[in-house]
Amino acid sequence: MSESGSDGPAQFENDPLRDANGFEDKEIDCVDCGKPFVWTAGEQLFFRDKGLKHPPKRCKPCKKAKNERLEAVIKAQEEGVKQRVEVLVHCAKCGVQTTVPFYPSQGRPVYCRSCFLEKNPETLPKDDES
Ligand SMILES: [Zn+2]
Ligand SMILES: [Zn+2]
Repeated sequence: MSESGSDGPAQFENDPLRDANGFEDKEIDCVDCGKPFVWTAGEQLFFRDKGLKHPPKRCKPCKKAKNERLEAVIKAQEEGVKQRVEVLVHCAKCGVQTTVPFYPSQGRPVYCRSCFLEKNPETLPKDDES
């Protein structure tokens, strides 16, 4: 941690950032984009005030992007819970029109509830409508 060119006079005596709060701007490599960003003395003070022990891992744009990704995932999950999937299909066995709570994959037969139970007597579907 020694400064190179230590034979010169001390340059840091009047550094206002050091005098202000003991923090210096720090460079951190962002874990997402790999680019170094500056963790400013003011932000370090903020982190200390909040009791946060770990320095930030991401630069501001990446942090924002990460939060937006998270929000989008949470929103999608909430909407997915609200809107149950209902796909209109024809039973491969008896031909009755029915809906299934999933998107059937191409080429796989889809059965109505009674035909499905007939084919898979042990596989009782989760019935949350009773
Ligand atoms: Zn970044
Ligand atoms: Zn059927």
